[in-house]
Amino acid sequence: MRFDELKLNEAVVKRLSAAVNGGRLSHAVILEGGSAEDRYSAAMTLANALVCSGEGVKPCGKCGDCIKCGAESHPDVFVVKGDNEQKSYPVDLIRTVRNDAYIMPNEAEHKVYVLMNADLMSEYAQNALLKILEEPPEYVRFILTCGSKAPLLSTVISRATVFLLGAEEASGDDELTVKAKDIADRLAEGILAPGELAVMQVISELEKDKALFSACLPELRRILCDALAIKKGGRPYNETLIESRLGSHVSAEKLIKMLNDIQDISDSMKRNANYNLQLTRLGMKLR
Ligand SMILES: [Zn+2]
Repeated sequence: MRFDELKLNEAVVKRLSAAVNGGRLSHAVILEGGSAEDRYSAAMTLANALVCSGEGVKPCGKCGDCIKCGAESHPDVFVVKGDNEQKSYPVDLIRTVRNDAYIMPNEAEHKVYVLMNADLMSEYAQNALLKILEEPPEYVRFILTCGSKAPLLSTVISRATVFLLGAEEASGDDELTVKAKDIADRLAEGILAPGELAVMQVISELEKDKALFSACLPELRRILCDALAIKKGGRPYNETLIESRLGSHVSAEKLIKMLNDIQDISDSMKRNANYNLQLTRLGMKLR
């Protein structure tokens, strides 16, 4: 199935296709929300795009890899499902994935693990997965699907780019989102600027706008995730983009640290923590 055949909202389909076709997809992706069928079809299309060997926009639907994906028999695409009945995800299953991931792909450029219903994983299973999410072999890609990422550890979420398949992303270009994207861009610019003035200036604009602050955090995480993906060998989509510049000037270690910090601040906001405190914290963490 090609991206344009997916019955999902257009904005998220475009983002998915642009990320994978621009070589900017991070090594782990979380597909959140939508129906179980939405998540499955999006995950399989994404996996297909990652192993497609055709020319032009991937998946091409015509090459040998695409045909095998269509028949759900590609030797480098693995679908792991967890036990929906038992509401569990055996940790042994994760260990098997981990061991298998170190074996080179059979045919394709990538080896793709689709972990369906990742929200069923226990903390124990997630920690087992984390070992490989942190430093996967370069050919490995993980696609996690979940109704909600709330049960996932923040350390797992921070290693991945999250795509919302549900209705939330459909309203992607309302006024708040446009403003939040602008703020996130300027904060990211501030990370690269000498001194702390640039970041603090943006932070001060957020002092009276809690909703804008909460909305800019996922945008900022997306920028940093993309920067990290570029750093880890994805092709820069466009050298003038902030993501590319962050990827070339900020260390992976610092990017991961900032991703974890922002996730933490996001979680605190959801728990109604003191707003000004979180705002100040963000300013400090981006230095
Ligand atoms: Zn193909």
